[in-house]
Amino acid sequence: MKLPSSVRRLRDRLSIRQQSAALTVLLSLATVAVMTLGTATVVRHHALDAANGELRLLAQTMASRLDRQMFERHREIVNLANLAPLTDVWRDRPGEIGTFLDQMQDSLPSYAWIGYADADGTVRAATRRMLEGASVAARPWFIEGLKGPTVQDVHEAKLLAKLVPQAEGDDPFRLVDVAAPVRDRSGRVMGVVGAHLSWAWARDIRRQLLARLDPALQTDLWVTSADGTIVLGPAETAPVLTPEQLMATAGGGAADEGLDISDGQALVAAVGTRGFDTYEGLGWRVVARRPMTIALVDANETILTIFLIGLAAAVASSLAAALIAGRVMRPLSLLADNADRIGRDPTMALIDRQSGSLDIIRLSNSLRSLVRRIDFAESHLSEALAKAGRSEQAITQLRRLAETDPMTGLLNRRGFRGFAAEAHAASQRHERRFGVMMIDIDHFKAINDTFGHAAGDAVITELATIVSKSLRAGDRIARFGGEEFVVFLLDVDETGVAVWGERIRRRIEESPTFWEGQALKVTVSVGTTLVTRDDRDIEDVIHRADVALYAAKSDGRNRVSFRAPLSAPAQTA
Ligand code: GH3
Ligand code: MG
Ligand code: MG
Repeated sequence: MKLPSSVRRLRDRLSIRQQSAALTVLLSLATVAVMTLGTATVVRHHALDAANGELRLLAQTMASRLDRQMFERHREIVNLANLAPLTDVWRDRPGEIGTFLDQMQDSLPSYAWIGYADADGTVRAATRRMLEGASVAARPWFIEGLKGPTVQDVHEAKLLAKLVPQAEGDDPFRLVDVAAPVRDRSGRVMGVVGAHLSWAWARDIRRQLLARLDPALQTDLWVTSADGTIVLGPAETAPVLTPEQLMATAGGGAADEGLDISDGQALVAAVGTRGFDTYEGLGWRVVARRPMTIALVDANETILTIFLIGLAAAVASSLAAALIAGRVMRPLSLLADNADRIGRDPTMALIDRQSGSLDIIRLSNSLRSLVRRIDFAESHLSEALAKAGRSEQAITQLRRLAETDPMTGLLNRRGFRGFAAEAHAASQRHERRFGVMMIDIDHFKAINDTFGHAAGDAVITELATIVSKSLRAGDRIARFGGEEFVVFLLDVDETGVAVWGERIRRRIEESPTFWEGQALKVTVSVGTTLVTRDDRDIEDVIHRADVALYAAKSDGRNRVSFRAPLSAPAQTA
C-alpha cells in the first residue's frame, strides 16, 4: 500500500510513541463509532417495538372499557324497562317512579338524566322532575326506543344543556342515550325508558389511563365516532383517520390487534370498539399517539451511555498505548542519543548497552561492534602514521591519501571534516557565512542495474567534475559516500544557496555522461541550508541539509529544497 506523500512526511515527523497513540485513538474511535451505531440500531428498534406494543395496549384497554361501560348501562336500562312488578306503576302512577329513578342516578353519577315517556312522547317521570310534561317525541332515542332497546351515539346535549350543571369547563356537554321500550302484560308498547349518559365517564377513563402512563410522557388518546369525528380528546391535535384506516379498524379484523399508523414524527395506534354481549357497539375508534422523541428517550440514553463508556475506553487505551510505546521505545531513543554523540565527539568510543526487546539488543550489539570497528581503524591509521617516522613529507602524503576519495579526487568525508569544522568556527566568530548543499543522484541504482557498475562510476566521476568546475575558489566539495556529495558555499544567503543549488541541478541535468557510445542522463536532488551561530557543531548543519534533501526526494526528485535554520543565519561582521 502506497501512502500519500503528505502522510509519509507527517509520519517522519512523529515519534513511534506518538504514532502508536494516534493509531490507537483512530482505531478505538472507529470501534466506538461502529459499536454505537450497531447498538443504536438494535436499541432503537426494540424501543419502538416496545412503545408500539404499549400504545396498542393502551388503545385496546380504552376501547374495551368503553364497551364494557356501555354494555352495563344498556343492560341496566333494559332491565329497568322489563321489571315486571313495575308494569302497572308505569301505566297508572308513573309519578311514583321518580324517586326510584333519583336513587338510580345517585348510585351512578354518569347518568345525567333518566326518564319515562309515554307512547305519545310526553315525559311522565324523570330524575329531579326534569323535563316532566315536555315532549320528547322527536328525539331519536324515543323514536328508536319505541321499536326496541337502543343506544344513540355521542351528541351534544340539546334539552338538558340548560338544566344540568356542567362539570367540565369548556368542553361541550356530550351525551350518549340509552333507551328501551316498556310493554304492558299483552306486550303492547306503553312508553320508553330513556337515560342520558354524560360523556364525562369516558373522559374519566381516558384521564385515568393516561395518568397511569405518566402524563409527562406526552402520550395522548382520542375517541372518534364511526365516521371519524373526534368525540373525546383535544380535537386540534388529533390525528385524522383516513377512510381506509377507519375501514381497517371497524369492529373485528384489525380492531383486535390494533392498527399501527405511525409516521416519522410519532407512533400512532388505532383500535376499533366492538361492543360487548347484547350491546352491539357504536363503531367508535380509539387512537393513541406518542411522539417519536418521547418513545426514544430511554433508548437514546442507553445509546449515549454506551457511547460515553466506549469513548472513555478509547481514551484509556490510547493513553495506555502511548505509555507502553514510550516504555518500549525508551531504549531506542537512548541508543539514538548515544549514536548521535559518537558522530560528534571523537573521544566517545563506546555505546551503552541497551535491552528491553530482542530487536533493541540486536541493534545495541551491532552499533557497539560498529563503533569498535571505527575505533580500531582510527588507531590503525595513527599507528601507520607513527611508523612513517618523522618525515614531514611522508606524513603530509599519508594524510592527503587518507583524506581524498580515490575515484573522483575530491575530499572524502574525513578530509571534509577538518574544513567543515573550520567553516563552523568562522561562522561562530562572525567572520564568514556559509551555505551548504547536499547532492544525491536520483534513482542511481537504475544506472548500475542497466549499464553496469563501471558506468555508474563514470557518472559519479563526471558529476564530480561538473560540480567542481561550477564552484568558486572559496567553495568546497566532498564526496560523502556512494553517489552523495556535500558542498560548502562561501558567503551566500538563502537566495544565494538556492540559486547555486538550481544552477548545479540544471547543469547536471543538461550534461550527460558518455559511456560506450551512449549518453547517460541523470538528475540530482539537492538539499540546502545555511550555517548559523546556533548550530552546536557541523553535524547539526549536515543533518539539516539531509532533511532538506529528503524533502526534495519525496517532493518528486530533480529539485532543490531549502531547510531554514531555527535561528537567523550567521552574519558577517
Ligand atoms: P534515490 O537516491 O533517488 O532515492 O535513488 P537511488 O537509486 O539513488 O537510491 P540509493 O541512494 O539508495 O542508492 C544508491 C546506490 O548507489 C546504491 C549503490 O549500489 C550505488 N553506489 C554507491 N556507491 C557507488 C559507487 O561508488 N559506484 C557505483 N557504480 N555505484 C555506487
Ligand atoms: Mg540516490
Ligand atoms: Mg544515496
